[in-house]
Amino acid sequence: MAKKQNTRKYIFIVGGVMSGVGKGIASASIGRILLSRGLKVTSLKIDPYINVDAGTMNPTEHGEVFVLENGLETDQDMGNYERFLNTSLPAINYMTTGSVYLDVIRKERNLEYKGKNVEVVPDIPLEVIRRIEAAAEKADADVTTVEIGGTVGEYQNILFLEAARMMKSKCPADVAVVLVSYLPVPGSLGEMKTKPTQYAARTLNSAGVFADFIIARSAVPIDEKRKEKIALFCNVRREHVIAAPDVKSIYEVPLNFEKDKLGEYLCDMLALNCKKPDFAPWEDFVRRARNVKKEVRIAIVGKYFDSGDFVLSDSYISVIEALKFSSYVAGVKPVIEFVNSKKFDASAKELGSLKKYDGILIPGGFGETGIEGKIRVIEYARTQKIPYFGLCYGLQLAVIEYARNVLKLKGANTVEIDPKAAHPLIDIMPDQKEKMAKGDYGGTMRLGSYVCELKNDTIARKAYGAAEIVERHRHRYEVNPIYIPDLEKAGFVFSGKSPDGTLMEIGELPVGKHPFFLGTQFHPELLARPLAPHPLFTAFIKAAKVGAQKKD
Ligand code: GLN
Repeated sequence: MAKKQNTRKYIFIVGGVMSGVGKGIASASIGRILLSRGLKVTSLKIDPYINVDAGTMNPTEHGEVFVLENGLETDQDMGNYERFLNTSLPAINYMTTGSVYLDVIRKERNLEYKGKNVEVVPDIPLEVIRRIEAAAEKADADVTTVEIGGTVGEYQNILFLEAARMMKSKCPADVAVVLVSYLPVPGSLGEMKTKPTQYAARTLNSAGVFADFIIARSAVPIDEKRKEKIALFCNVRREHVIAAPDVKSIYEVPLNFEKDKLGEYLCDMLALNCKKPDFAPWEDFVRRARNVKKEVRIAIVGKYFDSGDFVLSDSYISVIEALKFSSYVAGVKPVIEFVNSKKFDASAKELGSLKKYDGILIPGGFGETGIEGKIRVIEYARTQKIPYFGLCYGLQLAVIEYARNVLKLKGANTVEIDPKAAHPLIDIMPDQKEKMAKGDYGGTMRLGSYVCELKNDTIARKAYGAAEIVERHRHRYEVNPIYIPDLEKAGFVFSGKSPDGTLMEIGELPVGKHPFFLGTQFHPELLARPLAPHPLFTAFIKAAKVGAQKKD
């Protein structure tokens, strides 16, 4: 007899009080909890902005742009889901107000509404529901989590809440709503306050949606007294109020939720037919992360750090996480510092401050700010033999540095900065040139997964242990093929190329010439996962560890 199949279940995750309290991590953790019970899970993110995707936004506005396998440029939460679920997610799992409206309008123009009056309500929520159900279907998911960006009460997400309301009113037994809310402990009072959460629950109610669970985010675990208060005033069962105190590592969140039996209650409520939870691999990873002591110091030299008077690390979140996963397998604790490359733009004077790092990483980027500084940093890492890892722009700039300082090509540059460069080492890809001429910027870079072939006896080939790999991309420019013979003659190795040999995907210095000097045209950080650290990050961290040991 065929195994009894669960009917598809949906969990909406919404936020209250304020943003940035970990709704994405809560969604990803709920996914992990259910996955650990043998259920098939998929996760969606809804962003309420008009941008059709996240690709046109500055990272300091919005954080990292996470690129999916098929090339869709999305929100960093999609990265969290992929990392927690240890899987790649399809494009149908991400939507914005802009993308939903675009589809509805396109269908209307195609007469797909068959002469009907197309209205904001219900046609927009119906399109949202269509996508949610299509994602569940595509993944053949028992449970689909749907995170609605922003906080309840904002005009922007009301149509998404309406979609949740419609789904729940149609199939109440198949839909759960989780409100992730913040409970402040004001210093002047020293007491946890529940009132903002009560207002958030009421605001949610005014949209016709009622929370089944409340995740109580706060500095410390919520106590019994306040759980009862929230249960009473927000209309949820007391045991459905889940403590979510601040934790050292986001990867502890699923285990913490389990302490308050969130998984069990969700499965009960949704009548999910599942196995006993098995957290062994996840717990192993968390334990390893907790136990590492020996430090390696890594500098991320970038420019998307400023947010008013504050420093923002969100722009590089996948890079930071990738460094952590590889450090834990290498048995070291990464101490990651952000160095703004702008400070090296004008002069090389301060480069000596980089001596203290065991590894230097230059992540992806766009435009000219901080570029001369980054090239100086690369020269310093190359000549001082500090392990260097360049991602995308970090590879392109390493090629420029090599051309300027080893090939002595004055005026070597990328046409992104200097369209009339004497030596355009990095040139625009031909198909990109046409798009730029038309002003066609959104979603038009070389995006998503492409195959790359590796050369034998190189750092890359050794690290991957494979001759062919697939990695995700996001760029418009590439190494100019005209300069490849000269670069290779001068000792620069292109260890990864597109299968037709035309695109340089990885560049490195010969094995033995430098502890680790490698750059990728793709973004390996997007595939690094807690349960599957990325081989190139691991090779970089291992080289940094050797350097750190020598300093002891
Ligand atoms: N700006 C470069 C390009 O478009 C690098 C992009 C990146 O680092 N993601 O090719």
